[in-house]
Formats: sequence, structure tokens, C-alpha cells
Amino acid sequence: MNVTNYLIKYQPILYRIFLNTWKNKKVSHAYLLSGEPGTPLKEVALFLAKTLVCDDPQPLACEKCLSCIRISDGTFSDLMVFDGQEKTIRKENVSEITFDFEKTAFEAKGVMIYILHLVENMTVEAVNSLLKFLEEPGKNVYAFLTTENESKILPTIISRSQVLNLKTINKDELIKESVELGASLEDAELLSRFFNDSTTLLENSQKQDYQDAKKALIKQLEAFLVSKNEAVFILQREVTPLLRTKETARFYLDMLTIVFEDLINVKLNNRLVLSTYDKMLKELASKLTHLDESLVMIMTSRGKIDLNVNISLLLDYVIFQIIKE
Ligand SMILES: [Zn+2]
Repeated sequence: MNVTNYLIKYQPILYRIFLNTWKNKKVSHAYLLSGEPGTPLKEVALFLAKTLVCDDPQPLACEKCLSCIRISDGTFSDLMVFDGQEKTIRKENVSEITFDFEKTAFEAKGVMIYILHLVENMTVEAVNSLLKFLEEPGKNVYAFLTTENESKILPTIISRSQVLNLKTINKDELIKESVELGASLEDAELLSRFFNDSTTLLENSQKQDYQDAKKALIKQLEAFLVSKNEAVFILQREVTPLLRTKETARFYLDMLTIVFEDLINVKLNNRLVLSTYDKMLKELASKLTHLDESLVMIMTSRGKIDLNVNISLLLDYVIFQIIKE
């Protein structure tokens, strides 16, 4: 994804703020990037990190020089990234940062940067350690924190950072643009929940994790239409083998959530998010019962993936709950 183009097109105000900050050399020691799920928070955080070390600033990160590329590749020694989306951020992670950043910078650029993506996914102990560090940051230490839920963030973190809000792109506009870029309408609709810019959406529509999760989803939905026995048979024979990794399973349950929201939309005569599945969703809505209960159950189950549960057992549980009498 080209972050400069994204900022110019979708976040013009933020772009002006960044330009002014860099021109006037008034970079804060801590930023909190806030945006709805799907906004490219981590990408923008990485872009700002690149801007601090870029060999050929334009005036922001060029995204082409060696330093920018090493940030992308994760090989820049003075950058530490912890991703709360992948794993809860713990006190040990913050200790790792504070320990390392007490020393002087390793790279010639002389700045040390850390990114904590989705700080709402931090343990209380980690937040407490972070607060101490935010209060007395080293001279050349810069923090980029992100959140999809500002209301969950302690006011003490917010007050120690400069908060920057990423605007959400209208979903219809996003779907239209993604299709113009070459995504199928089906993929654009399914992924519009996860990504809030068309380039990233298109890139992800071509990834294997997504393709496997989508294939599993469609097989499962078609099996629901045949019979309960078929639903269980297909689950064990075709769906589970496609969802071997946490990432694909998470994707799958997220998409199943959108499907169940749409099934409720059918009942309420609302416009569907997944218009390409219109016919199948209408049939499913008349076939499946207790939709609200199932939706809550799917969302709860999705949260359990991070707790190292057995994915196959979790999927069994989800499908059995959906088809129960
Ligand atoms: Zn560069």
C-alpha cells in the first residue's frame, strides 16, 4: 500500500498535520493513532516511523530507500513493533522496549522507535509500565500507539500522547473503488469490513489465508442449505482442513459473523452487506433458527481463538450450536 497516496486522498487533514510537523521539526514523542476497525493504523504508524529515518524524505517517507525498506522488512534494529491484534501485549514486551531503549541507538539515524498496535489489547501490568515510560521518554525515543477503540484507552495514556484520528471511508465508496481497481464485487463486499482502503483490500483478496477462509465459508453455507447432516459432514471433511491456522480460522469466523448479521438483515428487510450472496442468504434465513443467539455465539467463539483453543473443536462447537434444535 502506498501510504502517501492514501493520506493525500483519504486523510487530507492528517496529511497536512504530518507535513507541518515534519517541516517545523515538531515531532512529539508519542502519538496515538485512532481509527475504526479496518483503517490502516499499523501501516500509517510504520509510515511515520519510516519518515523519522528516511534517507530521501519527500518530505515524508519515500518508502523506497534502504531505511524505509528495512522498516517494512522488520530489520531496522532501532524499531520495535508489538502487535496487539496478533497477541496480547504484555509487561515483558514493554520491559523489552524500556531495557533496549535505555542504551544508545544502534543505527546511525540515532532515533529509537516503538510501535504498539492496538493498545486496547494490553494487560494492565503492561499499561502501567508503558505509562512510566511515556512520562519520561528518552530524548530520541518515539512511540506510535494505535487503537480501534479510544474509549477503552486509559485517559492517562491519551493525555501523554498526541491523538490523531483516521477518518473512515464510506463503505459503498470503498467497495466501488476496490472493484474499479480489479477486485471482484464478492471479495470487495466480504473484505470491506476488514480493510478501509481499496489498495490493501485488493492485496488481501489475493492472499491464500483469505481465499481458504472464503472457500470454507461458502462450502459451509451451501451445506447448511442441504441438511444438518450435510453441514456436519462438510465441516469435518472440507471446512476444517482449510482452516488450519489461527489466521484463517479468525478470518472465517469474522466472515461468518458478517453472514449472520446479514441473515438478521434479511429478517428485518434491511439492505444486505453481501449483496452477491443475496439469494443464498435469503434461503438460509428461512432455514436457520435462533439467528441472534448464533451471532453472539460466533462472536464469542472468535475471541477464543487467541486463547490457544483447539481450532477444530471450536469450529465443531460453532456449527453444532448453529444447527441445534
Ligand atoms: Zn525512505
